[in-house]
Amino acid sequence: MINRLREAFIFVGVPVHEWGQAPTTALTFSPTLLEYCKTNVCGYYNKSWTCPPACTSIEEQQKKILSYQNVLVFTTKHDLEDSFDYDGITKARERHALLTAEIKIMLCDAPVYGAGNCPVCVKCAFPETCLFPEKQIGSIEAAGIDVTELSKSAGVAYNNGENTVTFFTMVLC
Ligand code: SF4
Repeated sequence: MINRLREAFIFVGVPVHEWGQAPTTALTFSPTLLEYCKTNVCGYYNKSWTCPPACTSIEEQQKKILSYQNVLVFTTKHDLEDSFDYDGITKARERHALLTAEIKIMLCDAPVYGAGNCPVCVKCAFPETCLFPEKQIGSIEAAGIDVTELSKSAGVAYNNGENTVTFFTMVLC
């Protein structure tokens, strides 16, 4: 799995900043994180099959995640003009999503969770039937996973300094 991840990193050309591994038992699940989704800061609340309220319940996601032994985590780090560089954050998120989607393909549709909504389709078919259910990329946040704790467990930095943004992806294995 790790070798295939390395191949994906090289293939897509988005530099991976850090990567690490943790047992799934080290993950922290918090239902209150899903309450934050309701504020719709990202704009995808009720707009994607992998985001609340349409996504699988946190209990079902937790059960699925804990049925795997380990989680591989990787991050991408992106420079911003300043902390209000929303355009830079949007572009960084798109680049990270591209890498995550490529990794999903290279890992033969292994369970992958990215930053925010599923990025597989240019526009999610929601509320119509999902076009590629086997290719869906879950949302770390919508699984109720605390990314700060995830970063500590996997030994990767949550924050990489002033005027940067860091995005996370995790792969179950
Ligand atoms: S595969 Fe496409 S339709 Fe299905 S959840 Fe992802 S973006 Fe939406």
